[in-house]
Amino acid sequence: MMIPESVAVFFSCIVGLLCGSFLNVCILRLPAGESILTPRSRCRHCRRAIPAFDNIPVLSWLILRGRCRHCGQEISRQYPLVEAATGALFAACVWHTGLHWQTLLDATMIFLLLGLAVMDARTFLLPDAFTLGGLGAAIALRVLQPSLSQRISSLSQRISVAEHTALAAMAAALLLLLTRWLYRWLRKHDGMGLGDVKLLAMIAAFLGLPLALLTLFLAVLAAAGISIAQLVRGRAHAKTMLPFGSFLAASGIAAVFIGRPLLHWYAGFFP
Ligand SMILES: [Zn+2]
Repeated sequence: MMIPESVAVFFSCIVGLLCGSFLNVCILRLPAGESILTPRSRCRHCRRAIPAFDNIPVLSWLILRGRCRHCGQEISRQYPLVEAATGALFAACVWHTGLHWQTLLDATMIFLLLGLAVMDARTFLLPDAFTLGGLGAAIALRVLQPSLSQRISSLSQRISVAEHTALAAMAAALLLLLTRWLYRWLRKHDGMGLGDVKLLAMIAAFLGLPLALLTLFLAVLAAAGISIAQLVRGRAHAKTMLPFGSFLAASGIAAVFIGRPLLHWYAGFFP
């Protein structure tokens, strides 16, 4: 039975909203080294547990007008924003690609990247659970791809898919490591964390090397543009830290939707 596209997009949005709710927990707890499973969500001011009916993505925040039911203290706008963004991006994935295995890969990566973008902006940390965990998830999802099993040499094919994915991740990581070493050699201090290296490796495992390189290019362009704008407006100086992981993550999300047409357009210059 075929599921109508509008129904699929609607349900993917609901799944995205729920995943976004869990993502908020990860964003808050992972950089602090806390468990993401226990305890239940609590108000950060009065420490009371939040009941399920006050924990409906986006809606609860709107109904409560952004304040805790018990103590009346403000609940960060970040919660409904992360939930809405996850819902919208999951829906966009299904709308863009349809219901395919690739959509699962795209949505998984977008979930991780959205979380990493916010965590890096808030704390300058990119937890391994998301970067290296995501790398593992990408390899697993590629190897488990159902369409591979219909062929005769299925096992050797799956092994070769795993090898290719791991190689793409290693190549991307190596490129960023070399850049990092070069920067340290020239400027005598670190310009980039190892988290950024693991993050790009994860993006390469999900998207392949060409789109990962495009992601890096877009991230450098955006980070440079914003740095220059801040310097010109006097809001920053030459040593102001920038959460480069946030730029990588945002560019990776953009690459899901516009990456292939962009690469195609670029390839058109070299007939
Ligand atoms: Zn409270």
